Amino acid sequence: MAIATTNPTTGETLKTFTPATAAEIEQAIDRAAEAYGHYRHSEFSWRSQLMNRAADILDTNKKQYAQLMTLEMGKPIKSAIAEVEKCAWVCRYYAEHAEQFLADEVIETDASKSYVSYQPLGIVLAVMPWNFPFWQVFRFAAPTLMAGNVGLLKHASNVPQCALAIAEVFNEAGFPEAVFQTLLIGASQVAEVIEDDRVMAATLTGSEHAGASLAANAGKLIKKTLLELGGSDPYIVMPSAKLDDAVDVAVTARLLNNGQSCIAAKRFILDQEIAKNFTNKLLAKFKDLKIGDPMNENTNIGPLATPQILDDLDKQVSISINKGAKALIGGEKMGDRPGNFYPPTILTDIPFGSPAYGEELFGPVATVFVVENMHEAIALANSSEFGLGASAWTNDPIEQKHFIQDLQAGTVFINGMVKSDPRLPFGGIKKSGYGRELGKHGIHEFVNIKTVWLK
Ligand code: NAP
Repeated sequence: MAIATTNPTTGETLKTFTPATAAEIEQAIDRAAEAYGHYRHSEFSWRSQLMNRAADILDTNKKQYAQLMTLEMGKPIKSAIAEVEKCAWVCRYYAEHAEQFLADEVIETDASKSYVSYQPLGIVLAVMPWNFPFWQVFRFAAPTLMAGNVGLLKHASNVPQCALAIAEVFNEAGFPEAVFQTLLIGASQVAEVIEDDRVMAATLTGSEHAGASLAANAGKLIKKTLLELGGSDPYIVMPSAKLDDAVDVAVTARLLNNGQSCIAAKRFILDQEIAKNFTNKLLAKFKDLKIGDPMNENTNIGPLATPQILDDLDKQVSISINKGAKALIGGEKMGDRPGNFYPPTILTDIPFGSPAYGEELFGPVATVFVVENMHEAIALANSSEFGLGASAWTNDPIEQKHFIQDLQAGTVFINGMVKSDPRLPFGGIKKSGYGRELGKHGIHEFVNIKTVWLK
């Protein structure tokens, strides 16, 4: 994919970028290695000051950054602004807590003193997706830089201006040169970066294919990786749930970011007792949504990020319909306008073996499944190859306990939609990846957990 800004609302390519050459990559790694030599010895209090300054810069320029995201990948402007605010939050969170999370931990043994010391690793590569172009990067960068590492960012090729703006935030905040750098490179150049001896670890948020490829390359060289991959999260609703609340939240849970979120509720698994009522209410809400220019504050649904995503989704839905699924609303491309628009869609009667049954649908398509009881709901939820998040709606304490214990997911939310939060660890199991970002667990991913023993 060319490294370029193409407006998904109009299809117009506005700016293209030349990928860095092998020599430029080498220079960037040289600079990162040199920066790490000094930066790793810096005080937490100083790093905190810089990270708080980064948060202030984000707050001050939030409209400008939000417009950049909306221009490059089409998310509605209001949620783009909220995304920048969340980035400021994660910076402040780690500015405040990193020192305490990484403080030495004394463990009594036969030594006169033994303890665990958390030390930085060095250069960490981040390969990031376009769907939350600022948030995905900041949730990596805030803990990683606070731990004393330095970061190299390879962002998705369709959000190059966001990638450059993020590096500028850290520069303006006063982080030493090359503590955080953006490399404008294509996916095929990632291996070259990982193969450099000075790059110690890598994190990737994106598709299974990209994650497997990065982890294979890193694995050959015994380098640590963290993978945040796809999801097909269940959203289970039982008869004891507050139905109107479950429906209201369902709309956001499915359609946030034009439906392109890894932790979106993608499969609505409904107990037969409330299934019809829930589906009718959801349908009414979907009918009310405003599709249009994402720069307009009243728009609910903007375009998908690229023509490829639009085509992939359209194919998944049309094959599913050909196999017997029914579209209560939507179900085909909007041919009447330029840009990558796909309408909010609800699919029911989805046959086993169709794409809508087993694959991740990365767009505004809700799939509805009806089950007889909680056990069937759990079995269906767990039949996915993914295991990122799960949301279950019930006011029955026994059911709540079962969902918490038995759903195969990195995160379970009861009576709420799955969302990331700087204070809580975030990540998946199964094909959704491994490792955790955010919270105390997140900052421990890219450190050397060094055991120290003194006689
Ligand atoms: P993608 O194609 O995998 O792209 C993600 C990043 O990986 C981009 O920077 C891309 O670069 C790079 N990349 C692609 N192929 C690669 C390879 N073979 N080796 C190294 N890097 C490679 O992902 P996407 O399809 O745009 O993003 C959507 C997917 O990400 C969905 O499955 C979604 O669920 C998942 N996601 C997961 C999370 C999470 O936290 N678990 C969050 C957001 C999204 P180019 O742009 O240059 O191709």
